[in-house]
Amino acid sequence: MEQTYEPMWESLGLDLQAQDVLLQTLGKFYTGIFLAQRNRPEGMKYFDFVMSEVHGLRVKELLDGKEQGHKVVGAFCVFVPEEIVRASGATMVGLCTGAEFATDEVERLLPRNTCALIKSAFGFKLGKACPYIEACDLVVGENTCDGKKKSYDELGKLLGNLYVMDLPQMKTEQGRALLKSEYHRFKDKMESFTGNEIDADALKRGIAITNRKRTAVHRLNALRLADPAPISGLDALLINQVFFYDDPERFSGSVEKICDEVDMRVGKGEGVFPAGTPRILMSGCPMAVPNWKVPWIVETSGAVIVGEESCVGERGTRNLTADGNGSVDALMDNIVNRYFDIDCAIFTPNEDRLKHIVEMYEQYHANGVIHYSLQFCQPYQIESMSVEAELEKRGIPVLRLETDYSMEDVEQLRTRIQAFIERIS
Ligand code: SF4
Ligand code: SF4
Repeated sequence: MEQTYEPMWESLGLDLQAQDVLLQTLGKFYTGIFLAQRNRPEGMKYFDFVMSEVHGLRVKELLDGKEQGHKVVGAFCVFVPEEIVRASGATMVGLCTGAEFATDEVERLLPRNTCALIKSAFGFKLGKACPYIEACDLVVGENTCDGKKKSYDELGKLLGNLYVMDLPQMKTEQGRALLKSEYHRFKDKMESFTGNEIDADALKRGIAITNRKRTAVHRLNALRLADPAPISGLDALLINQVFFYDDPERFSGSVEKICDEVDMRVGKGEGVFPAGTPRILMSGCPMAVPNWKVPWIVETSGAVIVGEESCVGERGTRNLTADGNGSVDALMDNIVNRYFDIDCAIFTPNEDRLKHIVEMYEQYHANGVIHYSLQFCQPYQIESMSVEAELEKRGIPVLRLETDYSMEDVEQLRTRIQAFIERIS
């Protein structure tokens, strides 16, 4: 089946051997982690299919869309406003940065002590193993942490089509003004790049498409409040990961369908794990495809993950953009307002994130919080200290983990996670 895509992959300049290694590894992990779960909702079959075609059908759709004039825009961060991309008639895809690849080549360009997420972006490009990055007409970077900001100097040379967006670091009026001016600059860029004017109707369309995806995920999140948990944290994470690259309408429909099924499960008191299974809130760095290590350990150690305070999760999807019948400027303001609330650890101070973690812990009836940081990620590692202090002050059990994308620390992580689960059981 996959063989039929070879001409397409060759046309994108992929290294077929390297890509085969990646797909084989991905398939093995997917089978061992996702397909080995019990009591999965039937609706997860759609997401299994999406993953089985991750380098195939979706990439073909993007390339077919390009032939019809729909440019492809890649993004690494949830601050890139999808509403504006969709309003321009372009398609947006999140670029997976969840696996290590071509590490030796990467470490010739970046210091060893760079976070795994940044290294992964370089690895997929250098290893010529990612059809998405090759299919992009424009890649949008953002000045978030120092690691990303500085590495874009080098990544820009490799890509040749990188656009960098400046982002505020403080939630002040000046910060909001910077975000507003950068979103207007981005709108101008998308207009000149696609040749399509972004008027109020186009913006409303972009807002509606993006809000529908978020609304579907909000409904799923609400269903995860139930005990027994009607869907595993792994499957919910997968849905949040697929959010970034699937066709938006089809994605929304598939999540709505799975919600109908999960809703019925909740009504019947059915779950993936028995009632009373310890409930974990994950918090911290985003987990992009195929970063499933920690959730897999948690859910094979006797607990269930009920929420993700993460950009691949609730931090990324939690607020809708107001629509209404406003002018272009009013709608752009709505977009700025929605994104300015994202409480990424690049912001200082970042009290809102602490509050949100506590809120989520209470709302999802969690028994403990696992804070997950990637090694060498200063924003989240440093902030994990205040997260821990805040949670401990409130008597909320918390475990701070630091890891990377290798599997070398699986047993060590399992020991610590099991001990934590015993503590909260
Ligand atoms: S953690 Fe921060 S930098 Fe990373 S995707 Fe989220 S908002 Fe962007
Ligand atoms: S994980 Fe941390 S260091 Fe890495 S890109 Fe995100 S914010 Fe930057």
